[in-house]
Amino acid sequence: MEEIFLYVVLFAFGLAFGSFANVVIWRLPRRESLSTPASHCPACEAPIAWFDNIPVISWLILRGRCRACLVHISARYPIVEGLVALLWVACGVKFGLSAHTVFAATMTYLLVILSAIDLDTQRLPNPLVLTLALIGIAGVLVSEFTPLVLLPLTPATGWVSSPLVAAVVGSLSGGGVSYAIAAGYQGVRGKSGFGMGDVKLLIALGPFLGVFNFGVLFLGSILGAVAGIVIARRSIEGMATRIPFGPFLAAGAVILMFFGPDLWAWYAGFVGLG
Ligand SMILES: [Zn+2]
Repeated sequence: MEEIFLYVVLFAFGLAFGSFANVVIWRLPRRESLSTPASHCPACEAPIAWFDNIPVISWLILRGRCRACLVHISARYPIVEGLVALLWVACGVKFGLSAHTVFAATMTYLLVILSAIDLDTQRLPNPLVLTLALIGIAGVLVSEFTPLVLLPLTPATGWVSSPLVAAVVGSLSGGGVSYAIAAGYQGVRGKSGFGMGDVKLLIALGPFLGVFNFGVLFLGSILGAVAGIVIARRSIEGMATRIPFGPFLAAGAVILMFFGPDLWAWYAGFVGLG
């Protein structure tokens, strides 16, 4: 019964925070204030009344259009709201009523925002990546030096039981490998396909995922390759589609947060390590 209450609260707050995520996704890359003015239509600038700003539901009732000028409102608004709500419920299912749920919700929230901005602008804004990193560092330091266990979100392995060591190993393995690839790519192609923003994101994820952070680049690359094949087959020939990597790293990180140990056990058995 308590669980159901937790899930309902997480779902409701997820919708509300998802709604604010849409504001951040739109305004942060444009360097607009996040608080003022109040929500308005991006086309006609008509203010959006509270009853037209209810997550998911208003978009469905208005059939994806502005009430004033009828301009099409992207389906991404309800998708982001619904996605944050579902991810937050999943965090609650995974971690229950605990500090882990708060940190997991924070990580998934920032990753949703970063992914959408990367899709729009091909950039992972430093302030957001830095926010993720600082929350992670604070959580790991508290976990290391007090009895509270906040981070990492993945279980300690036999050879790394210290949260601080797990975070450092995670950041170095994730960031180091990706930096080597970014530098190599730069050297071979003369331009960067794998951005420094991706490297910074992988470093920032270390405190959250611990030693499992080494798998984010691997899993993100697989997801990116699969998506790349799908997009390449659909795109018009000669049209080079630059696919941002951030959303795939984000997806990889979320999958590893939920299923890291299970995936590792499966993979180790698969290659004969187990
Ligand atoms: Zn409008």
